[in-house]
Amino acid sequence: MRNLKYDSKALWRMDRDHYVHPWTDFSTFKETGSDVIAEGDGIYVFDADGKRYIDGIGGLWCVNIGYGREEMAQALAEQARRICYYSTFTHLTTPPAAELAAKLAQLAPGPLNHVFYTTGGSESNDAIARFIAFYFNRLGKKSKKKIIARTDGYHGSTLLTATITGVAFDKIGFDTIEDLVHHIPCPNPYRRPEGMTVEEFGDQCIADLENKILELGPENVAMFFAEPIMGAGGVIVPPPGYHKRAKEVCAKYEVKYISDEVVTGFGRLGHFFASKDNFDLQPDVITTAKGITSGYQPLGAILLSDEIYDVISVPQEKGAMLTNGFTYSGHPIACAAGLKNIEIMEREDICGHVREVGPYFKKRLESLYDLPIVGDVRGSHFMLCVEFVADRKTKALLPPEAAIGNRISRLAQERGAIIRPIGHLNVMSPPLTMTKAQVDDLVEIIRQSATLAMDELKREKLW
Ligand code: PMP
Repeated sequence: MRNLKYDSKALWRMDRDHYVHPWTDFSTFKETGSDVIAEGDGIYVFDADGKRYIDGIGGLWCVNIGYGREEMAQALAEQARRICYYSTFTHLTTPPAAELAAKLAQLAPGPLNHVFYTTGGSESNDAIARFIAFYFNRLGKKSKKKIIARTDGYHGSTLLTATITGVAFDKIGFDTIEDLVHHIPCPNPYRRPEGMTVEEFGDQCIADLENKILELGPENVAMFFAEPIMGAGGVIVPPPGYHKRAKEVCAKYEVKYISDEVVTGFGRLGHFFASKDNFDLQPDVITTAKGITSGYQPLGAILLSDEIYDVISVPQEKGAMLTNGFTYSGHPIACAAGLKNIEIMEREDICGHVREVGPYFKKRLESLYDLPIVGDVRGSHFMLCVEFVADRKTKALLPPEAAIGNRISRLAQERGAIIRPIGHLNVMSPPLTMTKAQVDDLVEIIRQSATLAMDELKREKLW
């Protein structure tokens, strides 16, 4: 417990009565309101009453260097004193915007040497879809507009990026754009057809992509969106070789490969970017956000190849320019946060730490296989999940009333750890500074919570 002086009840009430939360089930929210998370330190957060939790979700896959870094606070304050904001429209810039762009170009794989700033992941994906359509217009290939994405992929919450998103649950009741985005099946090896090897399944996933391009007509397909490991769709690691082969298919039909590294960027998989280092993929574009500042400021970035930049940056008509941008593109305090965040990551070799502790984390989670409701432990490094099932052999799900993900998260929270429920899964994406001893603490809480959940389910006759 930390001795905190917040009026937690008043905060709870103000929040419940006035704050329209993103991604909220209002049927329960109106009764329970929010847990007020007031402070953080390292891998821990504290609620307004001072109770400490292991932050198993890193804020929302984003607080990579951990909470409460004095150096970060100072960098932000210093930049606010120097200049809090200046436009980067047309021919203006600020020192942090320029320096961070150069640093990102240095860290990004291959010819991704050009950076466009946004304020988050949705904006990065939204803007790149616009850029790529603009790119093909400039090449005179005006029919190349369609987007291919995957079922269960998550790419954002704007009208366009929610349309690109392939998680059906995320769109219930909302409109999406008609006939622009086409989804191919999710490359989830755990749920592959029975009797098929992972290799055969990988072949099928690649054929799905090529067949979709051919069905739509290569002259109509502009881009393919894919996360290296699908995050919100259930921490899905595709079959070996998937991304590299998918890129080859895209290249064959002049389809731009957009690697959505909003979650996987900045160390979560042990490298600054996962595309090349984890998956041997050289994408045409990387979109990113989240860990770029470890959540100390909202910032997103698009990393463009020389080839795309050369097309979109050469004026073709007099007066024509790249009319795309946001007031806060290249915000100096956000860019200063990005620079300091990267400096800390390099100085402390946080990627090396993730490469060392990540496999241990996964092994520890795999020790949960002695619990019969654990169906699959998957993911990589600091992006992991447990899939709960009624029967490991048949992979049958528990009934929806079991609300197994929520149930385990609730039990874990009571025991001092926040983990994220997604349907019948629980997802882990903690700060990257988590030590092996802290991994043990977290896994022990998950074990206790899953064991208690099994008892509850039996009592409630749901299992
Ligand atoms: N892409 C991926 C892979 C994401 O996980 C997310 C958010 N979780 C986004 C895009 C959207 O980012 P934001 O919420 O910052 O708009």
